Amino acid sequence: MASSSCYSNSPCAACKFLRRKCLPDCVFAPYFPPEEPQKFANVHKIFGASNVSKLLNEVLPHQREDAVNSLAYEAEARLKDPVYGCVGAISVLQRQVVRLQKELDATNADLIRYACNDFQANSNNNNSEYGRSSRNYGYGGGGGGGGAGTSSFDQNSGLYYYSSSSQWTSDGYGDNDMGEGRM
Ligand SMILES: [Zn+2]
Repeated sequence: MASSSCYSNSPCAACKFLRRKCLPDCVFAPYFPPEEPQKFANVHKIFGASNVSKLLNEVLPHQREDAVNSLAYEAEARLKDPVYGCVGAISVLQRQVVRLQKELDATNADLIRYACNDFQANSNNNNSEYGRSSRNYGYGGGGGGGGAGTSSFDQNSGLYYYSSSSQWTSDGYGDNDMGEGRM
């Protein structure tokens, strides 16, 4: 894409940095435009220009841009954090995912508990209206047989819990007054 920027006048960032002539088949030119000198400087400092050129020659042309972006990202992270590099960022995010997943699980468990309490109270009062009243309250998926699906919670709060169940694909609930909102 950006390959034309090299042949014209200015050498690519890599050749400029390495003080060499940027030839028309320069492997760096498409990915290290002269406007981004720091990108090559970082990558060269961490990985070395010859390793980068070897790596670029080993991957398919359509993957080279992604490879360079990944090298640039890793190099920048490594310069900022010489010990952990991008692993530092990854592990912070992983811990965050674990923490949020626990929080989500606890919240889902709370919701189910509240729903069950309400449902019990409700079905004691209204045994004969079981099907209709439970649907009105939005947690009456038990009427569908499984007891695990609800048609309302996932609509309102996007619970992952439920969205991974078969209810998104099956129409077994036949309760299509929620249908418009699904997609
Ligand atoms: Zn070049």
